[in-house]
Amino acid sequence: MIVMHGIRKRFDSVEVLKGVDYSVARGSVSCLIGPSGSGKSTLLRCVNGLQLADEGEVWVDGELIGLRVDGDHVVPLPEKEIADQRRHIGMVFQRFNLFPHMTALENVMAGPLRVSGAGRDDTRRLALALLDQVGLSARGDHYPNELSGGQQQRVAIARALAMRPKVMLFDEPTSALDPELVGEVLAVMRDLAAEGMTMIVVTHEMGFAREVADHVCFMDDGVIVEEGHPDTVLTNPRTARAREFLKRG
Ligand code: ADP
Ligand code: MG
Repeated sequence: MIVMHGIRKRFDSVEVLKGVDYSVARGSVSCLIGPSGSGKSTLLRCVNGLQLADEGEVWVDGELIGLRVDGDHVVPLPEKEIADQRRHIGMVFQRFNLFPHMTALENVMAGPLRVSGAGRDDTRRLALALLDQVGLSARGDHYPNELSGGQQQRVAIARALAMRPKVMLFDEPTSALDPELVGEVLAVMRDLAAEGMTMIVVTHEMGFAREVADHVCFMDDGVIVEEGHPDTVLTNPRTARAREFLKRG
């Protein structure tokens, strides 16, 4: 579903992705772990064209992201076309980024109403079903500031799902939450995985990675140092760098 090949990205003089090859099979969950600053967010943002790589290719469901093949070479797509591609790639951030002046229900409805010709009634039905899916059917009329962080993050997940994404990207979705609210968000993500959503999850929640991930990638200093089944990478890592990182926990 996702294929990245030879991804390089530099900011000013610093190369933060140094030639990354990374693939995620359809319907599988891949967790990206690694120290702060290792390039996890940058890699994730390359998947949905929020960031364009300097070199390399990103394919999502057979579509080249951010680029178009023109004869012998590739050229960048106009920003508007990249935005169109991004619609099918859901993303959930550490901060919930809900629209503060809209209720939970309106937040979930906003995307489909803006981009598709879908009617208000159909969109409302979809949004109610999605709020139910994330356990918030009773909270549709609440504004973000009336919801806990965990509830806001679940609305953010429902909002991303409203665009019927092919894949879901999560960038440390529970890092900003009080510890007692982490579980409810991870539970929603676990359900989504069980339904067969293709997911990339940047996380420090090793329990979640161990339990839910089909594949774990350990990144350090702009490269994937080690990857494989969670039982191997998390329990019995090959490399000293991964061992050191996991020991620090
Ligand atoms: P991680 O998510 O693993 O913590 P990031 O991908 O956020 O790592 O960052 C990797 C490196 O790239 C860091 O050194 C960070 O400071 C740098 N970086 C990320 N985004 C930008 C940017 N927009 N401009 C300049 N430097 C950036
Ligand atoms: Mg990050």
